[in-house]
Amino acid sequence: MSNLRIDADKCIGCGKCVKMCLADNLEVIDKKVHEKGTGCIKCGHCVSSCPKGAIELIGEEGEKPRKGWMDGSLISDEDLGKLYESMGGGKTGKEGEHVWMTTLQGEELDKYMDDAIGILKEHASDLPVVGEFEKWRERNDVLEPNPILWDGKQVMFIFSDSAERAFNASNKMIAKGFGMGIRGFHSNALMLAYKEDPEKLEAYFPGAEGKMHMAFVIGHGRRLIEPLFKPIEKVKGLFR
Ligand code: SF4
Ligand code: SF4
Repeated sequence: MSNLRIDADKCIGCGKCVKMCLADNLEVIDKKVHEKGTGCIKCGHCVSSCPKGAIELIGEEGEKPRKGWMDGSLISDEDLGKLYESMGGGKTGKEGEHVWMTTLQGEELDKYMDDAIGILKEHASDLPVVGEFEKWRERNDVLEPNPILWDGKQVMFIFSDSAERAFNASNKMIAKGFGMGIRGFHSNALMLAYKEDPEKLEAYFPGAEGKMHMAFVIGHGRRLIEPLFKPIEKVKGLFR
């Protein structure tokens, strides 16, 4: 069964997702991406890398698998530090590349979300989640999950000089988080907003300069819920 929903109307066949797929599960045929069926591991890298928002991860019943994953509590600074450490954050790579992350929460995240939605409204008005988000804001019901962040209250933004390095670092972070009971998902909408107007959103991240590669909604997983992401260490022979 497929883990992806691919919108062929949005796909422009650029192949960015193909390059980022750790499982070699994607290919572009006639300018549209297709799954090869070679064992998608639900890492979500294709979702984050697509400039057109053409890919979504889906769950067992064909639904978005994120609602109800997280218990709504905040990850402590100490635990965020452990996640950062697991990514090799700040260390210079062989080619002088490095990876770093910032996590937004609370009022700062609210403000960021408003700016991101403003950008999406202007540039990607056909995105249903924009309207859903605005209606959710109007209803002002604290018990109702945010249509973009669902139960997540924090978003980790991952930056690097190299997309591949950022994606590898995020895998290490996801594996570490898995062991700590932390869950997450790549936000398609937030990455699209960044791709549409990086300068506006970089006001939140001085020094980012086009280097954001991931917006990852994180939180503590609810008990007895299967993780979306398998630790990448368990998948052998996938790194190229
Ligand atoms: S979710 Fe990961 S493994 Fe699955 S197709 Fe996308 S990039 Fe490949
Ligand atoms: S990154 Fe997006 S637009 Fe490019 S081939 Fe993949 S699905 Fe299509």
